[in-house]
Amino acid sequence: MKTIPTEPIGSIPRPDALIDAITGKTGNENIGTLYEQAIDDTLSRLKATGSPVITDGEQTKSSFATYPLEGLTNLAPNGMTINFEDGHTRQLPLLTSGPFRYGNYAVKYLDAAKKKTNLPVKQAIISASALSLIYPPDGIPGYSQAEFIDDLLNECEKDIRQCLERGAYKVQMDFTEGRLSLKLDPSGGVLKHFIDLNNQVFDRFSTKEKQKLGVHVCPGGDHDSTHSADIDYADFLPQLFNLHVGSFYLQLASESDRVRVLKVIKQYLKPDQTAFVGVIDVLDPVIETKETVRDRVLEAAEYIPLSQLGTTDDCGFSPFCDDVSTKRDTAFAKIKARVEGTKLAEEKLFN
Ligand SMILES: [Zn+2]
Repeated sequence: MKTIPTEPIGSIPRPDALIDAITGKTGNENIGTLYEQAIDDTLSRLKATGSPVITDGEQTKSSFATYPLEGLTNLAPNGMTINFEDGHTRQLPLLTSGPFRYGNYAVKYLDAAKKKTNLPVKQAIISASALSLIYPPDGIPGYSQAEFIDDLLNECEKDIRQCLERGAYKVQMDFTEGRLSLKLDPSGGVLKHFIDLNNQVFDRFSTKEKQKLGVHVCPGGDHDSTHSADIDYADFLPQLFNLHVGSFYLQLASESDRVRVLKVIKQYLKPDQTAFVGVIDVLDPVIETKETVRDRVLEAAEYIPLSQLGTTDDCGFSPFCDDVSTKRDTAFAKIKARVEGTKLAEEKLFN
């Protein structure tokens, strides 16, 4: 029988005991055990949702964006600040000297998860464009921006290639700054620059490998707040589909006018691309019913060819390790609704 593929984005809220250890509320002498338990529990609970593809829930990542910087000593804490609607901020570090190398690669998380499960495991990685923001605006003596970009592209390629070589089901680049870039630069110049940069990475992969690569976009999701939901999706999506990857994981459930967005996707999605539309609003504490999910899939199917349609969650459930805004149980219940609702839609669409 034909199916509609369904995949998570990546992160799951960490268990309370782990968050307490990370944030210093309790001692962290047994953090290794807590990490192991968190991965085990996440994999088994994701499996229990019926999800055909799973992740490690990013249980041991500092955040979706900063894991490559872990352990680096050439960083200062005063980089670009991202402002969220509710007033809270997240700040990137700044590079203080070259050469730039990742301190940590995503394959570490993939390997740890694959040891513990036989299900297909997907791995999220951060975009070259996001990390490009750590180069200081005033430059670094003896290490030009061009040299930095060369190093960055090599490192990002390596991050992806290692995951493919170790059998990742998909490698998904998180491109949350895509929509945000239109807020910082409404002319679209920065967005175009970001897309060019990421394509320079993707173009190092074969056509077949590109089908295993994807990109996730959303208006941000941290402490139940967004950073760029006020930027019109219709201005962003046409550019997005210029990225040279097979899969797009698109926030959609929380959009106020989904049909309008679906029409834009229909217009710009290319024949070799699949749109995984968000059918779960990760910022809403209310758990969707499977019927709600089914109806969202059926709605999307009116605009997107079935051979190019998949489903996902609007975003990861906890992109930063210390975010406690979404309960772990809620995340798993929502994922179960996505899987079951997608199945219900399948039965309607393929019968
Ligand atoms: Zn997201």
